[in-house]
Amino acid sequence: MNKRLVFFLVFFCSAGMLFSRSGVRTEWSFPDIPGYITLTCDFHSHTVFSDGTIWPTERVEEAWSNGVDALAITDHVEYRPHKQDVIGDLNRSFEIASQSLSNWPILLIKGGEITRELPVGHYNAIFLTDANPLDKQNYMDAIQEAVKQGAFVFWNHPGWTQPGTKAVWYPEQTELFNRGWVKGIEIANDREYYPEAFQWCLDKNITMLGNSDIHGPAIVTPAEHLNMTLVFVTEKSLQGIKDALLAGRTAVFFQDKLMGREQYLKPLFENSVRMGRAQVLVEKKGVWCVEVYNPLLFDIELKASTKSDIQYAEHFVLASQKSVLLRFKVPEKFTDKEIILPFIVQNFLVAPGQGLQVELKIVKE
Ligand SMILES: [Zn+2]
Ligand SMILES: [Zn+2]
Repeated sequence: MNKRLVFFLVFFCSAGMLFSRSGVRTEWSFPDIPGYITLTCDFHSHTVFSDGTIWPTERVEEAWSNGVDALAITDHVEYRPHKQDVIGDLNRSFEIASQSLSNWPILLIKGGEITRELPVGHYNAIFLTDANPLDKQNYMDAIQEAVKQGAFVFWNHPGWTQPGTKAVWYPEQTELFNRGWVKGIEIANDREYYPEAFQWCLDKNITMLGNSDIHGPAIVTPAEHLNMTLVFVTEKSLQGIKDALLAGRTAVFFQDKLMGREQYLKPLFENSVRMGRAQVLVEKKGVWCVEVYNPLLFDIELKASTKSDIQYAEHFVLASQKSVLLRFKVPEKFTDKEIILPFIVQNFLVAPGQGLQVELKIVKE
């Protein structure tokens, strides 16, 4: 075969492979909020290089397909049960995962999980430059090394293995947070949610995170998605994410709930829900209606929050990716063009057990 023919064959075969490998991705449709772009992030994942069962490139492909914009590979520093079969240092899983960045548009973050028994617990260090020096006898030395590299360090699953998965704060955490070495806490990890940790984040101004901590293959449906940390960034880049984490600009997507500070959940709600124009259904009885659209991949649950002279449903579910008709009754001789219906969003939590207060503003056609 002549050289030119070989070149064309190689070129067309590889181009064919490149373009035939399309991907399908779940889009969560979280809107941007004023001043910030909303990114979906998973800052906690494992591969075969620690106790996971997935090759690093698969981890990246799965994350992209599950609608993740930024993924951190955080293999355990000290716990590597496959090390006889899977050879490589603490940076190797990230290096291999990076090879798939030519296939999948995702922001990939180098991390590691510093793993100790309670009361110390587990800590993820992300945005590392070199994971190898984290392998230290003393956990304080390991965390200090991560901080020296400019990593963002957070406390993982604070209720894991605790009775009733109740998060417990020990003097060890006081020391780490007081030193400013640890700046975040997972309030949700895998299938666990830690309301105590949510409250600590609010009280002590700590960044809240919710991550998958996935070890095996991610077989999920939209109804059972992996946890995500929503991060509100000024630019879609690794630096943008790091800045947002340091500033606490996050929210947590866990099962059918969003959890976070009111300043982020409120604009998320307002930029998600789309209101139609109010129309009169039965003039004489003062019955009006309005269509409300929820573009998100999960239902939004509303509960009437205060008494109003407008009568409307006490509970109202905005079905995912559907328009729902909200009927309400106005008083006799009602002439206003604009109506405000106050609700509490029961699955947008601004504190443990406390839903976000919102007002649906309805304008008559
Ligand atoms: Zn862990
Ligand atoms: Zn882990």
